[in-house]
Amino acid sequence: MIKDYQRDKSLRSAYDLCIVGAGPAGITLALRLAQAGWRVALLEGGGHEFTPRSQQLYTCTSTGLEMYAHETRLRYLGGTSNHWAGRCRPFTASDFAVPPPVDVPGWPISYSDIEPYLAGAMDIVDLPQGAQFHAINEGLDGGEFEADRFLLSPPTRFAQKYASALEDTPGLDVFINCNCVDLLFDEGAGRLQAVLVSDYDGKRQQVKARNYILAMGAIENARQLLNSGSLAAAGVMRKDGLTGRCFMEHLNIDMGTFILKSGEGTDPRQYFTTDAFVAEYQAGKGNVQAAVLADVQTYGRTAEVKHFLENLACEMGVSSKIEFVAKFSCPGDGVISTLIEQFPNAQSRISLLDERDELGVAKVNVNWVLSDHDRHTIKCIGSELAKQFAATGLGFVKLNDFVYDTSLPLKLSPHAHHMGTTRMAASAETGVVDADCKVFGTDNLYVAGSSVFATGGASNPTMPLLQFALRLAEHLDQKLRLQHGAAA
Ligand SMILES: Cc1cc2nc3c(=O)[nH]c(=O)nc-3n(C[C@H](O)[C@H](O)[C@H](O)COP(=O)(O)OP(=O)(O)OC[C@H]3O[C@@H](n4cnc5c(N)ncnc54)[C@H](O)[C@@H]3O)c2cc1C
Repeated sequence: MIKDYQRDKSLRSAYDLCIVGAGPAGITLALRLAQAGWRVALLEGGGHEFTPRSQQLYTCTSTGLEMYAHETRLRYLGGTSNHWAGRCRPFTASDFAVPPPVDVPGWPISYSDIEPYLAGAMDIVDLPQGAQFHAINEGLDGGEFEADRFLLSPPTRFAQKYASALEDTPGLDVFINCNCVDLLFDEGAGRLQAVLVSDYDGKRQQVKARNYILAMGAIENARQLLNSGSLAAAGVMRKDGLTGRCFMEHLNIDMGTFILKSGEGTDPRQYFTTDAFVAEYQAGKGNVQAAVLADVQTYGRTAEVKHFLENLACEMGVSSKIEFVAKFSCPGDGVISTLIEQFPNAQSRISLLDERDELGVAKVNVNWVLSDHDRHTIKCIGSELAKQFAATGLGFVKLNDFVYDTSLPLKLSPHAHHMGTTRMAASAETGVVDADCKVFGTDNLYVAGSSVFATGGASNPTMPLLQFALRLAEHLDQKLRLQHGAAA
């Protein structure tokens, strides 16, 4: 049943599971675990619809590259799935098998650990059963770029699709307008003893459960862990620890422009780096999209405009003066955008500020920064793509200067794919959660969502994070059954 915590505070005295955050990860976990017969509390900070009051609790500062963290995330039932685009591409075996060429390790698990949950995750986002991730074009010949393979979810809006399941599933209590403001850790027992919640009038109450899952998105998962005084006092959250660090995005680089050879058509093309490319260049993975600009198309073939301008410039001897016009037409027919892997980097991080939000939770700063490794990836992908376009006779690419001159500032935008801030690792020295998504140093605190990603690859994160959520639901179901059996 969905209850509005602002008016109705009828919490049970104890739950088997308390899940904080009702986006794709939280909703998936809550439904699976309640359907398995457990008593589940799903706590959502926002209401049924967007409100400025809830959304402003996401406000944070930014000291690195701008990533619009409070505009892109949505803080209400369904989370950011209320405006996600639905592009789905799974991780591949190499994402897990090949460690990143940086000083933090890759995944402590293998692809075969999450592959069994792919069909379930596809079903959740309404991809047809058995559908193949297919390509919309051929790859490029040189072996560096294959055709990208993906599927589009309708896109699934989790609050709408799962509304009746959230309302009707026995054992599930969904509380909206119920904000997590603290995590209360019992150092002696090594267990979280409660989640402290607040309504919008500041009325606070403890929610108690046997197990807790944070599913608030990568920035808030780290924020709540760092904000907890009891976790810090117990040494579970350490100043030199990795919580909040290794924040990763997918990089949308304005690579430049291209001119397609005539007869190549104007359909968008999507390419993806091959494993051979990644191995040869010690670079990250990347999707490259080449699309024809709509506004250029409305001017007809640019070749004709260019021809006219060239003649005019020659006749009048004013070529430099009309350079800006020529420049408009010269770059060609289209633009190249990307979805490129960022390697984990401890300097790219979420950290707490002294200032608190209206409910008393410390605000955060996001310092999203790239490393030389990322500039190397961008340069390799850009220059190899340009070579391949020419070599295959597809057309000509004009790269922006900053792609190959790594001393120049980049022109890029984020994809709102926040990852890595509670990274999975084999030990607390290199991560925040273990292979079961349990926070190191605790017995009953888990994390769901792309904050657990050890590396982000160049696949869209939502379907893969659902694979992890399904795997975590299975793990917790087994854990609870074992405890239940032992107690009986
Ligand atoms: C414009 C846009 C397009 C995108 N397109 C794609 C795409 O095509 N493909 C793709 O794979 N991904 C895409 N994404 C990313 C996708 O939206 C996220 O990966 C996904 O929503 C993450 O799910 P989540 O459940 O981990 O977190 P969220 O969806 O962020 O949900 C977190 C939930 O926690 C709640 N919450 C936060 N703080 C608290 C608190 N203190 N107490 C209680 N509740 C709290 C929030 O209200 C929210 O409901 C896109 C994102 C944006 C912004």
